[in-house]
Amino acid sequence: MPRRSCLHCCLKIRVENMNMLKMGQHIIFPGARGLKHITKKGTQKKWYKHHAIIKEVKRRSDVSADLVLIHFWSTTGNTKFGVTETTYSYNLSTDEIYILKYKQARYSPSQVVQRADSKQGNETKYNILTYNCEHLATWCVVGEKESMQVNNCKSIVRQLVIFIIVCALWILKMFHMEGVYKITEFVLLPFSIWYFCYRRNYFIQKYKREKTICKACLNLHLLDLWTRFVTTYIILIILKFYFHYTYDITSFALFYYLVICNIIKLIRKKLINSYPDEERPVKNISNIEIGDVISLNYEGSNYYIIVTCLVSETGTHNTQTRGKLSGIFYDSPCLFSSGTIMKQCFNLDLTMHNVTKVDYTQFETHTSDMVAARAQQRIGEKKWDWFSNRSLEFCHWAKFREYKEDTEDGYSAPIESQIETVASSDICPNVRSSLLIEKVEAKIREDIYKGDIVEIISFGSFTDSGIVVNIVNGTQDQIFTMDVVLKKGFIRSVVKMVRFNVDLRVNRIWIHRYHPVHCYSREKCIERARKKIDEACKQWTQTRFIRDCIIRPWKPQKQD
Ligand SMILES: [Zn+2]
Repeated sequence: MPRRSCLHCCLKIRVENMNMLKMGQHIIFPGARGLKHITKKGTQKKWYKHHAIIKEVKRRSDVSADLVLIHFWSTTGNTKFGVTETTYSYNLSTDEIYILKYKQARYSPSQVVQRADSKQGNETKYNILTYNCEHLATWCVVGEKESMQVNNCKSIVRQLVIFIIVCALWILKMFHMEGVYKITEFVLLPFSIWYFCYRRNYFIQKYKREKTICKACLNLHLLDLWTRFVTTYIILIILKFYFHYTYDITSFALFYYLVICNIIKLIRKKLINSYPDEERPVKNISNIEIGDVISLNYEGSNYYIIVTCLVSETGTHNTQTRGKLSGIFYDSPCLFSSGTIMKQCFNLDLTMHNVTKVDYTQFETHTSDMVAARAQQRIGEKKWDWFSNRSLEFCHWAKFREYKEDTEDGYSAPIESQIETVASSDICPNVRSSLLIEKVEAKIREDIYKGDIVEIISFGSFTDSGIVVNIVNGTQDQIFTMDVVLKKGFIRSVVKMVRFNVDLRVNRIWIHRYHPVHCYSREKCIERARKKIDEACKQWTQTRFIRDCIIRPWKPQKQD
């Protein structure tokens, strides 16, 4: 049974058009209690998330639909929850719906619905810690119960306990209680060693028996565990032998465990790709195909390469181990040169170069020609970044098919007339959903359209954001000029149209994607922005100016 459908590494995708919703999907929407919209930030604030399985979508328009959901729900409005089927109308202008996209589905959509149905009417007792709406939904999709909300709460409680221990040690120190350090040696140390083993076992069980995490996620969890405990002990040992070992040092080590280790974990999350993949060693050249992502050790350096051309040499051996390969890769930065995407020929010898192939079989990928063509477009790029733009990210970008492209009917921005006549939502009728969806970096020229909101580095690390009103292609693929309407100046700011000469191989540009349901049409956004040129800018910040141009005014619906 495949184990790669894991809640820990699934993608959370904001629904932009109701035709993204399909039967059998695991969706999330905010819990209604305490829900509000923070106008300043333009975000919907929620305290908890509700999980459900879609049984049927009765689409009314691009922005509204009646959803038949199976979930833990209380239809009577009291606190008694049961697994039930409900039909409510949902509206994207108020309901912030997310689809959980698993790397690989273990069950077909109809099987997921069947599983969900089978729980209906059964004597299933709701328990916020062991069997809540998230447990139910993951059980239907992954096969076992799992709840990230509960996991996160548990982790907060664990860290709180350690914090209380630190405080207690400090208080004992204030009362000059000598010998408290003995507590650390005789209680805390053995306890933490036991705890480390317990946690390690816990994750391995999750992988082996419960099958709630995939192998790649297991490795990441173990890596975090090892760094947390091993570095804490190293620090403790250094302190013990180089300084006098007192309880002050214990509290320092605990503080390190609490604060520094969390920072290390955050950096690890940024450094290690969000798509953890398995790599398989390549024993035969014929196993490599064009468009594959391979990793190899060549002349002392490690590379992740997108294969664009391959010629194998038949040798005396049964298996072919030698060949010529050309590929595109992000060359890591050296002391005096920045990282560059380049194409190079390699004389491959499988016995020497430690070649592995990244396993994409479970993923939706572009066709091999398309992968090579996509990579080709970025040759010459010099925007290497430790956190977001390394060799493997580049390969993923070329290989992965974005969610947008895999819906059969595709989706576009909702049609204006449908937004005007939206039916109200049953769940949160008066709370506007978040305006912004995400900020993404433009990788190729095709990523930027007229009417987009772009953020460009203007001076040092300062950025300018504005609305693209015109684009003129240049002589080369990634070189073009664009006219951007933006707010200029600090005190007496004026709206200006600024022409940017862009070379995407060196210039970093981010696109701010606002939810189409809250925006005017692209044409209207451009028109509104153009009208303001050379006028005094009434808004204090660039974001507010942009919102003034593109976001429709909000009319809350009347509640009956
Ligand atoms: Zn996973």
